[in-house]
Amino acid sequence: MIQEKLLLELSKQVNAEFFSAYIYLSMAGYCEEEDLPGFANFFKVQAKEELDHGMKIYEYVYEQNGVIELEKIDKPFSNFKSVTDAFEQSYAHEQFVTKSIYNLMDISQEYKDYATASFLKWFVDEQVEEESTFLNLLKRVKMAEGNIAALYLIDEQLTKRTYVPLVTTEV
Ligand code: MG
Repeated sequence: MIQEKLLLELSKQVNAEFFSAYIYLSMAGYCEEEDLPGFANFFKVQAKEELDHGMKIYEYVYEQNGVIELEKIDKPFSNFKSVTDAFEQSYAHEQFVTKSIYNLMDISQEYKDYATASFLKWFVDEQVEEESTFLNLLKRVKMAEGNIAALYLIDEQLTKRTYVPLVTTEV
């Protein structure tokens, strides 16, 4: 059984993951407007992955006989000044998500909930990857700033990102 306090925090994390999907969809929209289909594709794939993260927590909680409390999802930020701005905000957001995963890990260990701590390890590893991906792209778009040909080159590369669904349940 998952402790009440931890259940509440896991529910909040489901909300945070869905909110992340909303943020990245908002960024995708900005890139569509800017005629950068590769960047838009990158953010749309990212949004789908965030929904998977939320679902992964949802499935785990019910598998453990717990209950998820769904809350209202906030309005995502918009009005991006540039692609660099979007990546600066993405990177900052992923750092925030990492902190919330660490907080969940802290509470799991506090309650000696080793099952949840083990489950959360996947998210700890995933955040290393997410932060690295966003920091790398942030550096690249910063270098391409003011050089439309360089930006189009990155855009072209980002058209190749494809969505791979996360298997959340074993059949
Ligand atoms: Mg996530």
